[in-house]
Amino acid sequence: MRETDAQARGPIIPIQPLTTPSAASSQGALTLPAAVAFGGEKKAVTDTRGRALEDLRISVTDRCNFRCTYCMPRATFGRHHRFLPHEALLSFEEITRVAAASLRLGVRKLRLTGGEPLLRKDIERLIEQLAGLRTLDGQPPELTLTTNGVLLTRKAQSLKDAGLQRITVSLDALDPATFTRMSDSEVPVSDVLDGIEAAQRVGLAPIKVNMVVQKGVNDGEIVPMARHFRGTGVELRFIEFMDVGETNRWDLSQVLPSDDVRARLHAQWPLAPVAADRVADTAQRWAYEDGAGRVGFISSVTQAFCGDCTRLRLSTDGRLYTCLFATQGHDIRSLLRTQDVTDAELTGRLAALWGLRSDRYSELRSQADAPRSEGSGPRVEMSYIGG
Ligand code: SAM
Ligand code: SF4
Ligand code: SF4
Repeated sequence: MRETDAQARGPIIPIQPLTTPSAASSQGALTLPAAVAFGGEKKAVTDTRGRALEDLRISVTDRCNFRCTYCMPRATFGRHHRFLPHEALLSFEEITRVAAASLRLGVRKLRLTGGEPLLRKDIERLIEQLAGLRTLDGQPPELTLTTNGVLLTRKAQSLKDAGLQRITVSLDALDPATFTRMSDSEVPVSDVLDGIEAAQRVGLAPIKVNMVVQKGVNDGEIVPMARHFRGTGVELRFIEFMDVGETNRWDLSQVLPSDDVRARLHAQWPLAPVAADRVADTAQRWAYEDGAGRVGFISSVTQAFCGDCTRLRLSTDGRLYTCLFATQGHDIRSLLRTQDVTDAELTGRLAALWGLRSDRYSELRSQADAPRSEGSGPRVEMSYIGG
């Protein structure tokens, strides 16, 4: 088995939690488990399956200027949908405290997401604060952001100046009609393409483009998208349509397996596999044999990667989720706001939460006796905890 980067860095201390999480607040959030005795030390933690904590995904808003049919269908997220009020959102200072605590436990990569993260006012100020943090080995964290690209032409330079290193842009089609149908917006696809070019110009590189593939909806765009981005330095990644949330009417018959996507590309431009940069990489990478760059495949439906899942998610309103398919998060906002919590206590609470983690939803999905989701109740929406 390949040595993980975390192992290469030194010993990982398994954390023994003192308590199990208990159901709590009236909003259905769980209380964070009591802190493990941690003494404010810095040490990498592992969960019950030996997975290190390496990535923190931070959702900065639940709002979006698109209504992608597979993520925020207008039937649910229409005019009458109530988004979070401003006071429910974690402040930049609160987010930075949680991020700093996670870095003390081994996190090395911070990803800002949403909703649409570029809609959060003064996002650059948050980026500046996060860029000032340090990992366990004293390095700045990898700092990246996932966006639909609409505001990128306007914001690429200020994001770069604030300390953002890389960017991922979501784009599901080049064909205007398909793009409009999937994003359910009036934004022309050229705005997103201009945004990608702007990001390239200012050096937010390497740029990745995420394409969610829905069979019968946009699979005709696989080859045109690949043709467009070949040789540009942009890595196109094909994502299997996932059963996140409760509203997108997911159906297995609409999932085009990554193997099929790859076969379509290979028939046109032969591909060869590329070794992963990190064990925890969500995408399997392949390179065009003619040297025109790489493509990635994120196959969370047909090839579950729970065994290497090192991601913790922080929702816009301050709940921590240890799995994308969770039904409940752990409330960290009330801890930050109502108690005089120290950074050591915060770190100990995160360590305890991670130490209890056993999630492997995607692995279980294909089994006959699989639970519908991790825990009970409706699964959270992707636009709420971020992709
Ligand atoms: N609004 C930003 C964007 O679209 O890039 C960031 C948030 S979005 C929830 C993050 C990623 O999740 C996007 O790449 C999006 O395509 C992906 N996504 C959303 N719903 C999905 C689904 N049902 N299956 C697969 N990917 C999905
Ligand atoms: Fe908005 Fe991103 Fe969801 Fe599309 S995928 S609706 S852009 S949050
Ligand atoms: Fe990670 Fe949960 Fe996805 Fe498995 S299903 S890879 S544990 S987020």
